[in-house]
Amino acid sequence: MIGKDINKAAEIIKADGLVAFPTETVYGLGANALSPLAVAKIFAAKERPNFDPLIVHIYDIAQVKELTNNVDEKVYRLLERFWPGPLTVVLPKSVLVPDLVTSDLPTVGLRMPDNPIALELIKKANTPLAAPSANKFGQLSPVDAPHVEKQLPDVDYILAGGQTKVGVESTIISIENDVCRLLRPGYITLEDIESAFPGQFRFEKSKPKHIVAPGLLKSHYSPKKPLYFIENKESGFPKNSGVIAHCKTNNYKAERIIYTSENTNKIEVAARLFSSLHQMEEDSHIQQIFIEKVEESGIGLAIMDRLRKAAFQYSQTD
Ligand code: AMP
Ligand code: MG
Repeated sequence: MIGKDINKAAEIIKADGLVAFPTETVYGLGANALSPLAVAKIFAAKERPNFDPLIVHIYDIAQVKELTNNVDEKVYRLLERFWPGPLTVVLPKSVLVPDLVTSDLPTVGLRMPDNPIALELIKKANTPLAAPSANKFGQLSPVDAPHVEKQLPDVDYILAGGQTKVGVESTIISIENDVCRLLRPGYITLEDIESAFPGQFRFEKSKPKHIVAPGLLKSHYSPKKPLYFIENKESGFPKNSGVIAHCKTNNYKAERIIYTSENTNKIEVAARLFSSLHQMEEDSHIQQIFIEKVEESGIGLAIMDRLRKAAFQYSQTD
């Protein structure tokens, strides 16, 4: 059921139920992070494998102390600078966090979302919320309440908050011995963090080999129709093709064209990325989707990361 009753949503969380809720990135599927029973329901509803750890959402920095061990003062300053915001930080976990949440890893991913509905829900539920994206495992991420209902019609409650602002999942970094490592690109870039804290951390772009998590899988975030990159602007498209373009002056002939931006503004492209893919997925006239690439800098890194995974099974040469 879709609604706007935060009190009701908080009561459902307290009773170990599942509530989908808006954040600034995508909609999350939330449950009490400290209740293994509630967390198990997330994995079941999403059909998500147990080896994929969940991000824990908080509303107050004081909660970091309870959920982690041995976190440096310097890291707290980083959290204060970027939270609330689309940044997840992986830190050594405390015994309070059930192993199911972190897939037996000794660390936990924490985030304070920049969305007033999400923050109020976490506060009223009076517990941190484990919340992956509110979609079936491997499918398109939801950026509006109806997207959640399409994939997860049986969740206890869907808290509506309109379209999300950022549109791609949070940046994930780990911090260990002053080394700050990018695990998943997002709206906040390593350069943003480096320029806020010059010389204070060592920054690593390469992913660590020992973490196995589907955020890092090659195929993910996929629509239910074949998705291809547009390699050549003049090329024609097969019948029943949908084209997603990022600049209005790019002229294509196709059954349907969706523009994510007037003029390749990457912030706009990111915000409309998943909703344009949902629209193509829902359009019964469209049999395959073609999408333009974007330049891989800033949030363009996150856009291309998601698109390569979404298109992986159809474009293995890319
Ligand atoms: P999402 O599917 O958006 O909820 O993001 C979950 C992703 O966060 C996982 O697939 C991992 O890539 C990452 N993640 C969460 N917790 C951890 C952790 N403790 N260590 C490393 N990566 C994590
Ligand atoms: Mg996800």
